[in-house]
Amino acid sequence: MNLKVGIIGLGMMGKDHLRRLTKVLSGVDVIAVADIDTQRATSVAPAGTDVFSNPLAMIRSDKVHAVVICSWGPAHEAQLMECIAAGKPVFCEKPMVTSEQAALRVMEAEEAFGRRLIQIGFMRRFDSDYRALKAVIDGKSLGAPLIYRSVHRNASVPADLYTSDMPLNDTLVHDADISRWLLDDEIVNVEVRIPRRSSRGNDLRDPTIVLLYMSSGIIVDVEISVNISYGYDIRGEVSCEAGVAALPNRPATVISDRHGIRQSIPSDFRDRFIDAYDQELREWIVAASQGTATGPSAWDGYAATLVADAALRSAETGQCEPVAMKPKPALYANPLHLNKNAGGVAA
Ligand code: NAD
Repeated sequence: MNLKVGIIGLGMMGKDHLRRLTKVLSGVDVIAVADIDTQRATSVAPAGTDVFSNPLAMIRSDKVHAVVICSWGPAHEAQLMECIAAGKPVFCEKPMVTSEQAALRVMEAEEAFGRRLIQIGFMRRFDSDYRALKAVIDGKSLGAPLIYRSVHRNASVPADLYTSDMPLNDTLVHDADISRWLLDDEIVNVEVRIPRRSSRGNDLRDPTIVLLYMSSGIIVDVEISVNISYGYDIRGEVSCEAGVAALPNRPATVISDRHGIRQSIPSDFRDRFIDAYDQELREWIVAASQGTATGPSAWDGYAATLVADAALRSAETGQCEPVAMKPKPALYANPLHLNKNAGGVAA
């Protein structure tokens, strides 16, 4: 039987995930949607879908087996808690929650339930380029990793919605999570440095350099530029003891014309990571069909929250700020081994 899913939040991400769950992936039926903006939910709901104005009521519905949360960050905690109370697997867009205390409450509730239910939307872990890069690092042919450079450039951000804190508490979370996963290491200190300000960003603090100090001694340097104009440009390069491994620039189409020879650049993240978003939900469907979750966990959501908090403190104090994580609960220690044929195969 297909997994019966309800989606909360039908804005940009919710609509995009609705498209892939109804048109790209198999093993799943979207049977309900919920949004505080009921008009918006009604306008995008496929025929026959139940529309809820109260997302918690949708989670409790007996017809809904699993939930996809794409509402605003501050709404995530209550919706995740309701999913755990109902024992339903849930995919939650980042940020998992917006405070350390909320992250601890969510992890405690999931631990008390006794089984993983939550997957967080860190889609880079599902991108084939990052997976190939990780395979090289894990293969140890280049020796130990020493430095990782992560470049995160957006063409532009909405001037009325994107504030000076957001490079650190919204954009950085993807670089922080991919660094932890790629290097299999935890971030222990965060330092923010502000170079010359771009005139394209109005009052925004842009660009930003963030140094992530890993527990092994590896240093990650992250460039966040959010008004770079030429496209959405994501780069990553790991310097190891005996060589360097880097992401390819995507897409690799080479254009030759009267301006010369160049490569095209994706315009935004939905374009660059389209396959990764498909794959994260494909793997979510497989796990959710078995009543559980794999991939980025509540522990990873907690880590991202602490890193964002430390980065905001560092921007304020100009100092290196510690990330003090509590010991890792057993629930998050070992990867689950699932029956990969249980659902979610591409149509
Ligand atoms: P959006 O503003 O376009 O849409 C959010 C929707 O949620 C709106 O329709 C709003 O009415 C609804 N909503 C808000 N609070 C709600 C509540 N309490 N209950 C029900 N519905 C509620 O936002 P978006 O850009 O789609 O972002 C949604 C989430 O996805 C955010 O957490 C954001 O950080 C995340 N996001 C992730 C990525 C990624 O690359 N993984 C990219 C962009 C956004």
